Amino acid sequence: MHGYTHLFIPGPTNIPEPVRQAMNIPMEDMRAPDFGGFVTQLLEDLKPVFRTRSGRVFVFPSSGTGMWESALSNTLSPGDRVLMSRFGQFSHLWVDMAERLGLEVDLCEVEWGKGVPVEEYAARLKADTEHRIKAVCVTHNETATGVTSDVRAVRAALDAAGHPALLFVDGVSSIASIEFEMEDWGVDCAVSGSQKGLMLPAGLGVLGVSQKALEASRTAKLPRCFFSFDDMIKLNDTGYFPYTPATQLLRGLRVSVDMLLAEGMENVWARHRRLAEGVRAAVAAWDGCELVSRGPEWRSDTVSAIYAPDGVDAAAVIRTAYEKYQTSLGTGLAQLAGRAFRIGHLGSLNPVMLCAAVSAAEMALLDNGARIAPGSGVAAAIEHFRATAPAEVLPFRKSA
Ligand SMILES: *Cc1c(COP(=O)(O)O)cnc(C)c1O
Repeated sequence: MHGYTHLFIPGPTNIPEPVRQAMNIPMEDMRAPDFGGFVTQLLEDLKPVFRTRSGRVFVFPSSGTGMWESALSNTLSPGDRVLMSRFGQFSHLWVDMAERLGLEVDLCEVEWGKGVPVEEYAARLKADTEHRIKAVCVTHNETATGVTSDVRAVRAALDAAGHPALLFVDGVSSIASIEFEMEDWGVDCAVSGSQKGLMLPAGLGVLGVSQKALEASRTAKLPRCFFSFDDMIKLNDTGYFPYTPATQLLRGLRVSVDMLLAEGMENVWARHRRLAEGVRAAVAAWDGCELVSRGPEWRSDTVSAIYAPDGVDAAAVIRTAYEKYQTSLGTGLAQLAGRAFRIGHLGSLNPVMLCAAVSAAEMALLDNGARIAPGSGVAAAIEHFRATAPAEVLPFRKSA
């Protein structure tokens, strides 16, 4: 097989070459005298990626799922009430975890294709005059459906109700890709992982934690061990870890953080918006295809979940794209299996790469009986990208 195999799933995402090269190094001493300084600076530089000033960022050997557990188990006690909503596979799994950890979930069920029901949250918070709700959870970007929720509005609802609950956000497929403001939105735990916006292999859980969450961890009673804030803080404060860190991944993270900060977070967000709009233009041009998200206010700039036309098996489209065109598209998860496919447009991508994704999807759709005009999606995408091209795109250069 010649050329590249193309990866357009919403995580793991494509790894930039400088990041991959930074990880290709001999094993190093994780207790070396100069390793501590490297770690201290890396943790410090993650703060502007999460947009926190007063909080801190932990890096665990884990995937994103572990950070859900770290957030819940460090800050809450058995039987505590948490306000959650379910509208896709990832928000579902977080609810499931909260229940299994022994929390009482106050659940809002939402139609898949929409996101966090802010008005419902506001009403429940207002009604909770005894402040029995201890945490409010928001899946910022539901990767299964391509739906982004309004975290800022949830913060406003908490403030309007004068409610002291903690605010937890699953930002696994939003942080380092679309607008995320941990400090300004008053987010207490911001959950992420290495293999999406951070453009690394899976293997690191990355968790932003506010001072309020750290305070809560001192009295919370759920058991925690591997994911303990306390153990991490004690060693992180000296630049080291309570157990063996994934040193190569940390070296890669150093470069991905450098790349993000060199580009500027606002520019990273704008790039994702532009890529997403190109894909959405293609979807709009494909007869019979439709976004799973139920309106412009929900549209995700990191992943599009797309209903295949009636009578077209979305699972077959994904298989054809892979087997015939060397291209991975995202599958339809749970109730979307066979009905929808996804195009991940987050991480290290540019318009020409997205045109490849659109053309592979288009060929696979045609091969599976979709009555779309050949080239229609690609034409819409290229016109969008031509019309929105920045004056120049500079290559990334390592500073040192
Ligand atoms: C990928 C993802 C997760 C799960 O992260 P893992 O790293 O696979 O554990 C959780 N939430 C969202 C929104 C995701 O996209």
